[in-house]
Amino acid sequence: MLRSAEIIAIGSELLGPSRVDTNSLWLTGKLSDIGIEVQLKTVVGDDGARLEEAISDALKRADVVITTGGLGPTEDDITRGCTAKALGRELVYHEAIEATLRDRFRAWGREMPEINKRQAFVIDGAEILENPRGSAVGMLTSIGEKRVVNLPGPPRENQPMFTELVAPRLKELVGDVFVERREMKIVGMGESAVDEIAAPIYTSYENVQTSILFNRTEVELQIAARRDTQEEAAAVADELTRRLADAFGIAMFTTTGETMEAVVGRLLTERGETVAFAESCTGGLVSRRITEVPGSSVYFLEGLVAYSYQAKVRILGVRQETLDEFGAVSAECAREMAEGALRVSGATHAVSITGIAGPDGGTDEKPVGTVFFAYAGPSGTRSIKLILPGDRYLIRWRSSQAALDLLRRTLLRQ
Ligand code: ATP
Ligand code: MG
Repeated sequence: MLRSAEIIAIGSELLGPSRVDTNSLWLTGKLSDIGIEVQLKTVVGDDGARLEEAISDALKRADVVITTGGLGPTEDDITRGCTAKALGRELVYHEAIEATLRDRFRAWGREMPEINKRQAFVIDGAEILENPRGSAVGMLTSIGEKRVVNLPGPPRENQPMFTELVAPRLKELVGDVFVERREMKIVGMGESAVDEIAAPIYTSYENVQTSILFNRTEVELQIAARRDTQEEAAAVADELTRRLADAFGIAMFTTTGETMEAVVGRLLTERGETVAFAESCTGGLVSRRITEVPGSSVYFLEGLVAYSYQAKVRILGVRQETLDEFGAVSAECAREMAEGALRVSGATHAVSITGIAGPDGGTDEKPVGTVFFAYAGPSGTRSIKLILPGDRYLIRWRSSQAALDLLRRTLLRQ
């Protein structure tokens, strides 16, 4: 039975900063869906010896080896030859492939360049994977129980080829394994704190893969439950999700992979309520995130970017005395900003953000990263102060998250 896979992405351009190997990421997801786990990925430049070595090494370890790229007609397209060598097979010429290619070129009103003849050579004994979207056919070779698959590089060619021709064949060999995934997100905690709570729960399940990823301001907790039937897999995934949700309480803001802004939008929509933001150091970032959600016009009334003292006074009605006495980065100013936004917008809720994103402007009393937030709405006004770590980019991003989270928690408590 096939269980493990390795992916080899081929092309010197993939080693540098200009092109990213996205094929292996996509393939890893698709393989996992049919119950095959990718254990190693390799990126190899256009170097025959290295590629041959990579393929034969991969074949020692994995049940399935998939290569992408390097099937083109040019000299630097070495996948065909290197795979054949690694497998100890010959390349054999297929007249039918050449004929198809010639027809294809004619249909485009061109003659086939002679170098494309190379693409008619296929590993002896390999199954040919037709490629109606490009010139390079793919190959599927059986080595005993194992399988070696060569896919073309362009995603628009290899994705349909994998889905239509490769996945069904591999699935047959894997047998019935069903995978159900869930994606949870937690805010206000670090990776290790999350794992301390989550590990005792998820380790009590067999055949459940868990990954914990930290992403700027939130921790993603992904689970994949494998079982013999779809129903069993779903039942296990749901049960584990429920137990994790209970353990994290309000800190877990989604069990379905939603973004924070989508969650806030959903809560407002459910309640038929609206929101406005008064932003200083985030400069509109909160409003941008909120409006990235389709349908946000239902609940988002306005975002006011009041950066200077004058703007805070003129747009939001912050009192000059407040600014003189406490400064713009203060609980007092944040409260007046939120109350001002509530008043001028007529929204149900308003949230304000004012802080020091750095790198300059920090003091002993208010270091860089000091950010005040206030909420104003039906339950009154309240403010919080956070000292956020990171550079300017991260402080601003984390501020936007904290503002949305303040609103979320307030909505859930009302
Ligand atoms: P072709 O017949 O089009 O030359 P090929 O199999 O030789 O196919 P490559 O020449 O290796 O493929 O790559 C063609 C294009 O496919 C690249 O320019 C790139 O845009 C894309 N591509 C190749 N490999 C990858 C990869 N691993 N991830 C994402 N895109 C890729
Ligand atoms: Mg090429």
